[in-house]
Amino acid sequence: MNLYVHFPFCRAKCAYCALLSRAGATPAARAAYVGRVRGEVASLPAREGGPLTVYFGGGSPALCDLAPLAGALAPLAGAADEMEFTVELHPLDATPRTLDALRRLGVNRISMGVQSLDDAALAAMGRLHTAAEAEAAFRRARRAFPNAGLDLIAGWPGVSAAAWRATLGRALALEPVHVSCYTLIREPKTRLDLMARRGEVAIPGDDAALAQIDEAREAFSSAGLARYEVSNYALPGFECRHNLAVWRGEDYVGIGEGAHGREGLARTVGLAAGYGRRTVTAEEDAVERALLSLRTASGLDLSAAARRWPVLAPRIPSWLDTLCALAGEGILRETSPRVFAPTSRGFEVCDAVMSALM
Ligand code: SF4
Repeated sequence: MNLYVHFPFCRAKCAYCALLSRAGATPAARAAYVGRVRGEVASLPAREGGPLTVYFGGGSPALCDLAPLAGALAPLAGAADEMEFTVELHPLDATPRTLDALRRLGVNRISMGVQSLDDAALAAMGRLHTAAEAEAAFRRARRAFPNAGLDLIAGWPGVSAAAWRATLGRALALEPVHVSCYTLIREPKTRLDLMARRGEVAIPGDDAALAQIDEAREAFSSAGLARYEVSNYALPGFECRHNLAVWRGEDYVGIGEGAHGREGLARTVGLAAGYGRRTVTAEEDAVERALLSLRTASGLDLSAAARRWPVLAPRIPSWLDTLCALAGEGILRETSPRVFAPTSRGFEVCDAVMSALM
């Protein structure tokens, strides 16, 4: 079972963020939310086989007292050593007390939103912490959790090539076992979008952002962190199992406001109260699950996909033609017969590749 729980609370809204989260919730509101989530996790049916992955995302989950969830998660956990339990952590939450509480909850993986190690960029993002504070926070987290990674944003306005190189160097000096490096997206209605419309910031073009991603990929690779998904890099064995399960087409249960879920043909999204639910056809389901694998370094295995989803059979010949053509253009490479994985260029255009196959 793969379980995602969303916590929609933050200290402040970052300038670029379009995730479902809000600042200013009272302790009582956060406690009530944990109570809701606890009840929903407790009512999940016992899992049948397969390892458990749990991912607490947000928002800033550690703004909530997560201890009440321990009792609800325990029956799902089974053998603790096979469970991956990730919590997204804001640097300001990485206090010794919180880290200790997370360990007691059974958390064994931390994903810290560092975003930049450039003080001017952090201030413009509205992150509420300096680069030095983020470094100290990550060191504490890394000591408490051997499986600790960090997030960075490439393409932030005004970050020079030298400043980006410095951020990469400082990030790697922290010895993360995992890095997520996202290209800045100008999301509508964010503070960043408003500032760009007023002409107060100039958002770099795709080429500039991609140059930073290229530089990051090379730096991470030199440190042994291999790219295993469009935006994700890890030391061998430290890939995020929860996210890999999603990209490999497995089911995941989404709990909480703003959480998405995929269970069989059902797609769910958490609302302020209850869940929105829609049902896709068997073919839509198979196409979605199969194509997501093109985001990963393992790529799409056409023979395995045809066996797993017989409904795809009529599409396989035309997919094979398209995939071979993309391999001819250097966007994909055929790693073994009928298995196609993205090249570095392919990672940059994987959304377009998936659209072409749809
Ligand atoms: S802390 Fe994370 S979720 Fe919260 S506003 Fe900032 S980027 Fe968004």
